[in-house]
Amino acid sequence: MKILTIDDSTTMRRIIINTLNRIGYKDVVQAENGKEGLQRLDEGGVELIITDWNMPEMDGLEFVKKVKTTAHASIPILMVTTNAAKEDIVEALKAGVNNYVVKPFTPETLKEKIELLING
Ligand SMILES: [Mg+2]
Repeated sequence: MKILTIDDSTTMRRIIINTLNRIGYKDVVQAENGKEGLQRLDEGGVELIITDWNMPEMDGLEFVKKVKTTAHASIPILMVTTNAAKEDIVEALKAGVNNYVVKPFTPETLKEKIELLING
């Protein structure tokens, strides 16, 4: 399963990719911001998106809203962010985020959320 991970932090992308690899997901593509994320989506094959919220160029919320207007609208989206306030979470869910992980997270939490999205 091809997973797209978007984060402006190289370190965070590495953490997420390492976690994904460890739990068995080896096909991971990455982007530094929402704009690049949209390009990766257009390359095709992505079945799950894991995106940060706060990023330059195009942030995660804007990215999610854009994705929902495209042919990629049905791809499940997990948001990984430091924005833990209830109103932020509500806003993200309203925009079309399927689930939410607050940083810092454990590999176990990330795994659980991903499996929820994949298996329903
Ligand atoms: Mg960020």
